[in-house]
Amino acid sequence: MEDEQEKVVIHGLVCPRPLTHDETVLLGHGSGGKMTRDLIEGTFYPPFENPTLLRGDDAAVVARPESGRLAVSTDSHIVSPLFFPGGDIGRLAVCGTVNDLAMVGARPLWLTASFILEEGLPLLIVERVTASMKAAAGEAGVGIIAGDTKVAERGKADGIFISTTGVGWVPNNRNVSGANAQPGDVVLLSGPIGDHGIAVLAARGELAFETIVESDIAPLNDLVEKMFAVCPSIHALRDPTRGGLATALNEIARQSGVAIQLEEEKIPVRPSVMAACELLGFDPLYVANEGKLVAFVPPGDAEVILGAMRSAPYGDGACRIGSVEAAPAGKVLMRTAIGGTRVVDMLSGEMLPRIC
Ligand code: MG
Repeated sequence: MEDEQEKVVIHGLVCPRPLTHDETVLLGHGSGGKMTRDLIEGTFYPPFENPTLLRGDDAAVVARPESGRLAVSTDSHIVSPLFFPGGDIGRLAVCGTVNDLAMVGARPLWLTASFILEEGLPLLIVERVTASMKAAAGEAGVGIIAGDTKVAERGKADGIFISTTGVGWVPNNRNVSGANAQPGDVVLLSGPIGDHGIAVLAARGELAFETIVESDIAPLNDLVEKMFAVCPSIHALRDPTRGGLATALNEIARQSGVAIQLEEEKIPVRPSVMAACELLGFDPLYVANEGKLVAFVPPGDAEVILGAMRSAPYGDGACRIGSVEAAPAGKVLMRTAIGGTRVVDMLSGEMLPRIC
């Protein structure tokens, strides 16, 4: 049996105790001098190893694609705790940016990563986070080719903050935008909603009952490629992250100047997520996802795209959830299970802080 006295949970990760001075992040690691070099070469180079990064220049130099266009996206990640069922801040930082690239039809190529580390953070946590980033980047097929590290004084950062920037390649035959949804389009969703937000909340101990909800964090670029393989003319894609499905759909309704009509009964929510939402007074439509997408597709292609999604990683729960109409422009409406219709608005204010 393990001796409980020898372990301590820090930021959601079980760490050995006591940690010695040289096992934690020190202000000197951000000095730009030898300690910074040791941290970079000892902790960041091994997991991210690739020739472009290891060259050690001030900027990564990469070859230009011969055709198509480039997509660029950036995202900052703050999540508490850093480790939770189904993922951690490292997987989040890679998948968040990979998915934003995929949502414009880009094939993700490269990422950069910027780390703000809090003084006193166990180096074990940095190593676990970078190992998780390596695994996620490997799964998505992207290289982490440039990075930066700074150290904030104790109490001035919550363990670790990570910003990632991604570059992807968009083939010329794709024209995907939140402004391209058209009346008649079918709205597809890749699987059940709300898992990420509830998993992080449960890991904070904010639920009154034990739950086994895992975050859905996943790279969606392979799923998106399988969709384009059967239908190059997908109109719009979006990952319903912070603000949830309701917010993502409202953004697209506004960008495209269309109405979106949802069918409440068709929107999948796991029973455990629904139970947590009912307890907390949340609507799952507004709870964050990190491994789901919505797609706006021509009606004649909807069935074949659904088939492609269901055979792809992270798309096995794909379903139709609604359709696009001309009016009322900019609105999302939902036919409820009991036969009424209600307006689904954007998230106003903050429901779940620091979850992604
Ligand atoms: Mg997004």
